[in-house]
Amino acid sequence: MCDCETEVNQHLSAHNTRLSIAFSRVENRLVGRLIVATEKINSRGKGRPLTVTPSYCPFCGEAIDAGANKTIPLSQGEAHV
Ligand SMILES: [Zn+2]
Repeated sequence: MCDCETEVNQHLSAHNTRLSIAFSRVENRLVGRLIVATEKINSRGKGRPLTVTPSYCPFCGEAIDAGANKTIPLSQGEAHV
């Protein structure tokens, strides 16, 4: 697993910013994963927009979690891409 998240967060911290994280259960452990910002197409539509987490690091392309296919979403509102 790469260290891009930590490095990017170090650069962003100077601007009071950090990457957004979602937590998923992988087998018997809770894993924090980067999320891709999403929004509703129709703001009046029901429910919240899906949470999207990349399977590969958006900065270097390395697989984020070899067990990504075994990730069990904590809610119906999560998708892995
Ligand atoms: Zn990376």
